[in-house]
Amino acid sequence: AEVTRRLFELIRAVPDFPQSGVTFRDITPLLADADGFAHCIDLLAEPWRDAGVQVVCGIESRGFIFGAALADRLRSGFVPLRKPGKLPPPVVSAQYQLEYGSDALEMRADAPHDGERVLIVDDVLATGGTLAAARSLVEKAGMHPVGAGVLIELGALPGRARWGGGLPLHALLRY
Ligand code: 5GP
Repeated sequence: AEVTRRLFELIRAVPDFPQSGVTFRDITPLLADADGFAHCIDLLAEPWRDAGVQVVCGIESRGFIFGAALADRLRSGFVPLRKPGKLPPPVVSAQYQLEYGSDALEMRADAPHDGERVLIVDDVLATGGTLAAARSLVEKAGMHPVGAGVLIELGALPGRARWGGGLPLHALLRY
């Protein structure tokens, strides 16, 4: 509880960013704090210690930071899920809807991924669109998702419902 309180203290609320009416949760003060960052990775890793995770898939770009540290902690591989056009071919891709328009995530298609056990990682779960796209991408690539881990769940948004009940989703901090 003490550690969790400290983690909350290290996240800055920024009103009206990136647009009016939105409160942005800035995780960079947490990253900059040696103990805060280490504890954060400890706690993110805990639920997955015995899950047989072979690969962590981190979502661009803040999911790379937490995902890579977590992969190191779990002694698994790391595969980046990137914005379109960043990875050289061959790639697999999954589209998802935004409030206005759509976006996509891509991952390399040429790794020996068949059936590998994957943990999907991002910093923040909001509407759940990004995490759902990551999951379908991982499945499209022939990998086996075991669940998702996020630092922050924005509880007023239906992200958890969108993820569904079939696979575990662990969040450290809830707003
Ligand atoms: P969703 O697809 O669940 O609506 O949005 C989640 C994505 O948007 C994540 O990749 C996350 O990095 C980003 N995001 C949304 N809101 C915030 C926020 O308040 N703080 C941070 N750091 N990222 C956010």
